[in-house]
Amino acid sequence: MEEKLSEKLSEQITHRDNLQKDINYSYRFINDAKQKIKELERFIWKNCQHEWVYLDDGDYYSRIKYKCKHCDLYRNQYMYN
Ligand SMILES: [Zn+2]
Repeated sequence: MEEKLSEKLSEQITHRDNLQKDINYSYRFINDAKQKIKELERFIWKNCQHEWVYLDDGDYYSRIKYKCKHCDLYRNQYMYN
C-alpha cells in the first residue's frame, strides 16, 4: 500500500515538473516572439508607405491618434526605433 502511494506521489511530482518546464519554454517562446515582432515592426515602420487613418479609441487623452491602414502600426516613431 505504501509502495502504491509513493508511486502515485512520484507521478505527481513528475507531472508538476513537466508543467513547469512547459511554462519556462512558453515564456522563452513569448519573449523571443516579442523580440522578433519588435525587429519586424522596425523594418515595417521604415519601409511601408504608410497611409494614416484616424484612430477613434474613445480616449481623449491618448497621444496616439492615427494608425496605418496597410501595416496597422501607430503613428508614433518612438514605439518602433
Ligand atoms: Zn504602414
